[in-house]
Amino acid sequence: MAAPVQHDVVIIGAGPGGYVAAIRGAQLGFDVAVVEREVALGGTCLRVGCIPSKALLESSHRYQEAKETLGEHGVLVDGVRADLTAMQARRANVVKQNTDGIEYLFKKNKVTRYLGDGKLTGDRAVSVTAPDGSVTELVAEHVVLATGSEVATLKGVELDAEVVVSSTEALEWDAVPASLVVIGAGYIGLELGSVWSRLGAKVTVVEYLDRILPGMDSEVAREALRVFKQQGLEFELGARVTGVSVTGKGAKRTASVAIDGREPVVGEKVLVAVGRRPATSGLGLEDVGVALDDRGRVAVDEDFRTNVAGVYAIGDLIHGPMLAHKAEEDGVVLMERLAGQASAVHYALVPGVAYTEPEIASVGQTEDQLKDGGVAYRKGVFPFSANGRARAIGSTQGRVKILADATTDRVLGVHIIGPRAGDLIAEAVAAMTFGASSEDIARTFHAHPTLSEVVKEAALAVDGRAIHI
Ligand code: NAD
Repeated sequence: MAAPVQHDVVIIGAGPGGYVAAIRGAQLGFDVAVVEREVALGGTCLRVGCIPSKALLESSHRYQEAKETLGEHGVLVDGVRADLTAMQARRANVVKQNTDGIEYLFKKNKVTRYLGDGKLTGDRAVSVTAPDGSVTELVAEHVVLATGSEVATLKGVELDAEVVVSSTEALEWDAVPASLVVIGAGYIGLELGSVWSRLGAKVTVVEYLDRILPGMDSEVAREALRVFKQQGLEFELGARVTGVSVTGKGAKRTASVAIDGREPVVGEKVLVAVGRRPATSGLGLEDVGVALDDRGRVAVDEDFRTNVAGVYAIGDLIHGPMLAHKAEEDGVVLMERLAGQASAVHYALVPGVAYTEPEIASVGQTEDQLKDGGVAYRKGVFPFSANGRARAIGSTQGRVKILADATTDRVLGVHIIGPRAGDLIAEAVAAMTFGASSEDIARTFHAHPTLSEVVKEAALAVDGRAIHI
């Protein structure tokens, strides 16, 4: 057997956690190798998650605009049709540009790439089994697990990739289903539910809780629910799914989603979007004794160290929200710590964004959390309907809500539903990272006329002095 190949750092998984760690590690002078089983780099996010969903959200939004709202601008288009083949080709092309981009960045940073399944085999040792079955042994000073997460399944519900599917398949359909039942009113359910509803499917979202978007501020989630209903999505809230059965043959198959104590909901397709779980299987964790926590995540300390010397884990595999930008920060900070630098991830300030229309974005504590924690706070709210730019672009739904400490005025949470909320939240994240008060935001210039003025007005509203309302 050939002698193992030696690297400073071997990373298993080339998603946002792994590939960013690799680039940062290379910048810091480490000889870095990445093991990835998919030919395309970038992981779930780039291949079958964040990026393709945003491509389809954009295309379906433009289609709907052409059909429904361009007339308001005096732009008259007749015979608007959706060419799903072209839309999907564009989606695939957007993905390819992004995954090719990572390949380029690996070359630029001299990151070595191994194609195959990586597995821990011993002390800082990883074996890579290539698609042709050949095995390469690697050894490294530091081994980083960055394999992300996989679709969580539901008891009584079997995914068949055709009728009852995960987001991976629901991103690639070449025909619009007449009806779609989405199980789970979280990020994926609402984003992909929106895409297919805009393209003409009758969409019913079935959610276990009595609200949508758990974890987000409940007032904002209530407003979002109202808007989604206006858009034609139907909801079964407080609904416990007990099973899904598929009947019929070939193209005539339909699925029936059974709900405890209610009539079943029937659809041509069912999308299961009830969360994700850490992708820990096949990694050899048991063989080398890497411990998991009580929720099946890889247990790590603040330096991302597992209980096994030289083995680290980041991203969706460990604690914290399963979000690409959180995984990226984990990766950067881990590499910097391995290089002896003192950097840290601000876990309390990870923003969350649902890329629906309007977008929904949040950072820091929700109003519910402040109430539950008995924190005295002041609240400033400002609607997009009172903003000149929002009126000019014709997107006036939603509002910005800023929650500040009643005594110190420090901003504790910002929650936005409205146009470009995902971009607007960046200011709030930066402000909160610097420990800003609502007064700081209120005193900061915001160019006129921009949507960002709604953030400024909400900050003024904390002190009861918003100007334009
Ligand atoms: P999620 O955790 O966002 O939402 C899952 C939803 O399913 C929740 O509302 C939950 O209450 C519900 N649910 C759970 N069990 C159920 C049951 N038995 N019956 C009915 N409803 C049930 O998960 P997701 O939407 O599947 O997304 C998966 C992961 O991907 C998440 O961790 C999310 O952070 C990430 N993601 C993020 C984005 C984004 O940032 N825009 C987009 C897509 C996915």
